[in-house]
Amino acid sequence: MKTAISYKNVKKFYGDLKAVNGITLNIKEGEFFGLLGPNGAGKSTLINMLAGLAKPSTGKISVMGYDVQNNYQEARHSVGIVPQELVFDPFFNVREMLRFQAGYFGKGKENDVWVDEVIERLDLTDKASTNMRKLSGGMKRRALIAQALVHKPPVIVLDEPTAGVDVELRQKLWEFIKDLNNDGHTIVLTTHYLEEAQELCNSVAMLRAGKVVAMDTTKNLLRKFATKNLKLKLNFKGEEKLPQKIDHIPHQIVEDAFIFQLKRITDITEITEALKESRVEIADIQTVDSDLEDVFLKLTNSNK
Ligand code: ADP
Ligand code: MG
Repeated sequence: MKTAISYKNVKKFYGDLKAVNGITLNIKEGEFFGLLGPNGAGKSTLINMLAGLAKPSTGKISVMGYDVQNNYQEARHSVGIVPQELVFDPFFNVREMLRFQAGYFGKGKENDVWVDEVIERLDLTDKASTNMRKLSGGMKRRALIAQALVHKPPVIVLDEPTAGVDVELRQKLWEFIKDLNNDGHTIVLTTHYLEEAQELCNSVAMLRAGKVVAMDTTKNLLRKFATKNLKLKLNFKGEEKLPQKIDHIPHQIVEDAFIFQLKRITDITEITEALKESRVEIADIQTVDSDLEDVFLKLTNSNK
């Protein structure tokens, strides 16, 4: 599989601030890749450097084999980027803006069929003649997604595309992006909604403070870091306190339930026996699998 995007030892400093602090990353062609991490982790900085909007302090970045700095034109043509910030030209309506953008990429009339399809799939048909500055936030984002797609780039990068977008469009947008991925487009998505990433991305990199803390297929990450959790609802006769014997088993209290992180399967016996001894009744019992959110919490806690 060829490499669609490569970052080699990339750093980006703003004065003393290390926004990106030594990242090496290879995203293969055809992947649906998630760049995950909390606010300030460096996701947008990575993407802005890919778009040529920010210059790396050190390191090399390439898209479809083209160096972002030395082969700027080719690199720029290979990628469609939806920035996190809603930046647009206030004088154009949606269709004009899309035609103009297509023209910038050297596309002519023959491209109109594709532009119309993009407009339709993003539910922008009714707004095609509306001026950009008159659109709501969610509509602006749709238009900017369309703008990134006009030249049908092999690599599509979306920086927090669902921020401020309603649930219905979110579903539609993902259907469209999944179709593009099935047609061979490489997709890179940043999000702090880990649930969304878990559902969509086959590989992810988790960032924290400008560094990659984990990178793998979503499946492997879940397998490597997953734990079984036991969720119990308990009826206490006396004080609402766990028997001391099992207090050492890692657990948290969520609403009215205790969630134990099981290290071994025998932990279950230990828990139920200790509860029985202390005459605490189990009202409800359930096992829960961990998700990317748990993986991320574990990784960031152990790295502190
Ligand atoms: P994310 O997209 O993961 O939320 P960013 O890449 O936007 O994170 O930001 C990473 C860090 O770099 C943050 O601390 C942010 O404040 C800082 N930063 C980003 N852009 C600039 C800039 N143009 N000037 C100074 N600091 C910046
Ligand atoms: Mg960001």
